[in-house]
Amino acid sequence: MIVTSSLRHQDAYYRQRINAGDYWLYRLEAGRTLRITDCEGNQAADTLFFNADDTAERYSMMDTVRGQNNLFLSTGSVLRSNEDRPMLAIVADTCGRHDTLGGACATESNTVRYSLEKRHMHACRDSWMLAVAEHPEYGLTKRDITHNINFFMNVPVTADGGLTFADGISAPGKYVELEALMNVLVLISNCPQLNNPCNGYNPTPIEVSLW
Ligand SMILES: [Zn+2]
Repeated sequence: MIVTSSLRHQDAYYRQRINAGDYWLYRLEAGRTLRITDCEGNQAADTLFFNADDTAERYSMMDTVRGQNNLFLSTGSVLRSNEDRPMLAIVADTCGRHDTLGGACATESNTVRYSLEKRHMHACRDSWMLAVAEHPEYGLTKRDITHNINFFMNVPVTADGGLTFADGISAPGKYVELEALMNVLVLISNCPQLNNPCNGYNPTPIEVSLW
């Protein structure tokens, strides 16, 4: 559902642009609001969330989908953990729909979906692994990298129950806004994918801002 935020961009206490292929790992306290903006449109922000005080608790696609009885995420969605507790709520959304079924791109899936020589292309899973390796202070390891949300990505379910990567429904300046309901770690990979239309074959920056 399209809902515009009442927060003013100039009031944000933190703003950071993230180029495609880069990651952003940040601790967000309960009560804070995070906005992710698709600066140039049709980008995919592959995102993981963890309980910042106990990273064994993390975002669960299954609990979230079951809890809201809907496959897609938008305003009103509550992101639930693997302990079925509310982690964040989507409080504004000018894109209208976000994917949590498709998973993140990886070098392995690139070889299966596209061709063997795609093996060495940069993928979201690499960015997450780099984030984990460069920030041991958060206590995350490879085993914490699980299913995720693809903000701004359009992965419709076909009539016969399949998934397709379709052209984006996002556009320059569209955003999604989330309120933290517990202290969370946010790990975003701004997707560098060049083989499918998740980012219009043209990876571009996103911006994160905090209130
Ligand atoms: Zn990706």
